[in-house]
Amino acid sequence: MITETGRLNRFLAAARPSATYKVIDRVAARRASGAAIISLSAGEPDFDTPEHVQEAGIAAIRSGQTRYTQVAGLRALREAIARKFARENGMEVEWQDTLVCNGGKQVIFNALAATLNEGDEVVIPAPYWVSYPEIVQLCGGTSVIVPCSGDTGFKLTPDGLQSAITSKTRWVILNSPSNPTGAVYSRSELRALAEVLLGHPDVLVLSDDIYEHLIFDGLQFTTIAQVEPRLRERVLTMNGVSKAYAMTGWRIGYGTGPRWLIDAMEKLQGQQTSGASSISQHAALAALNGPQDFILRSRSLFQRRRDRVVEELNQAPGLECLLPQGAFYAFASCEGLIGKRTRAGTLLDDDERVVNALLDEAGVATVHGSAFGLAPYLRIAYALDDKSLVRACGAIRNFCGGLEG
Ligand code: GLU
Repeated sequence: MITETGRLNRFLAAARPSATYKVIDRVAARRASGAAIISLSAGEPDFDTPEHVQEAGIAAIRSGQTRYTQVAGLRALREAIARKFARENGMEVEWQDTLVCNGGKQVIFNALAATLNEGDEVVIPAPYWVSYPEIVQLCGGTSVIVPCSGDTGFKLTPDGLQSAITSKTRWVILNSPSNPTGAVYSRSELRALAEVLLGHPDVLVLSDDIYEHLIFDGLQFTTIAQVEPRLRERVLTMNGVSKAYAMTGWRIGYGTGPRWLIDAMEKLQGQQTSGASSISQHAALAALNGPQDFILRSRSLFQRRRDRVVEELNQAPGLECLLPQGAFYAFASCEGLIGKRTRAGTLLDDDERVVNALLDEAGVATVHGSAFGLAPYLRIAYALDDKSLVRACGAIRNFCGGLEG
């Protein structure tokens, strides 16, 4: 009988499955067996895609826009993306310097697969989104993780960046607002990182801006290619419609960067998935070209939820949470829970145990910080209606309050 032993690609064999999807799948399985679970695990807006965007998708189907598109995306969409970068990020971009992919994840995958050779290093500040190191691993590269604690607001410092760069460094990944911490880099913080990068002309920069519009307290979003135009020739600025327009299932991500890189990514995508869904591309076009009031509404809604959730989490004995400035995640230290025992007798010896016990004993799904490279923490996605959030926070407080030891 043929088994997987020795048959899997060695890079895949050594990679871990997506930790976020593992929790999402567990929640689905528990719900299918009748359990009532409040999920604070999946990082996606809980509301529907704006109506005019839905209509554009339906109109695309009805008018027969259901065939292959160009691999790099519809020209009209690429032009709309170029206008978006000019309008929102002050970056003059030619449409040929953009690429449309099947979600933001494919932008990252394309870029790393197109450029990494075995042994090449990618600098990743931790906490990081679960998929960065795994994509690096799948592409044969080596992640160089730079721990960034709560003391620096979970942000990479210029010294941290400088000391992580070696002669093998190929990429540095930046993500602001951050998944999982909600940390936002200011213009001056990006400026300081850019100064370091200017001293390393062979290093490429991947700026994951997918949470651009979910930014609170009146802060101004800014991205490294905008802050330091001299880096433009080696920055891939990545974004997508998923988070900004509640379109996670439509799977449209995009990026802009140097033409040689965009061309290489297109070549790779042409041998893999081809262009993204034609229907989704028409919907994304309507999202980028249409009214933008949805963005402001969801921003103020998420800010309100953030305030409430963080306040409630900080009332739970053993949890401590900084105020995130963007995205829709709270990243709470659960150090005060470690070593305690639940009412059902489970010993909480690490954050994954805390997540499992919260799910099994309190019916609340979260994701463990260790999956994001910092433990012991819990990532709490507050992309849920107010009533469920209040119930979930109550259940978390109750769980924490009932621990012994
Ligand atoms: N980015 C989201 C999250 O972190 C979606 C799941 C994923 O692709 O990891 O929850």
